[in-house]
Amino acid sequence: MRVRIDREKCIGSANCVASAPTVYRLDENDKAILVDPETIDEETLLLSAESCPTEAIILEDDDGNRVYPS
Ligand code: SF4
Repeated sequence: MRVRIDREKCIGSANCVASAPTVYRLDENDKAILVDPETIDEETLLLSAESCPTEAIILEDDDGNRVYPS
């Protein structure tokens, strides 16, 4: 699974950091950045993406097809 963050949409709520602290952290501008998406399973990755209030976390499969948000 590929993970991208739309930093224009990110409002720094840190829901993603709370749900997957090994995958995301906030940078000095309080915007989420990726740490290591490989550290959790895909179900937890999906839950963390769903926790984002602005749908700023985009998941794609290995072929580049959108998985979330649909
Ligand atoms: S949950 Fe969404 S809005 Fe909040 S910090 Fe993470 S990416 Fe940004």
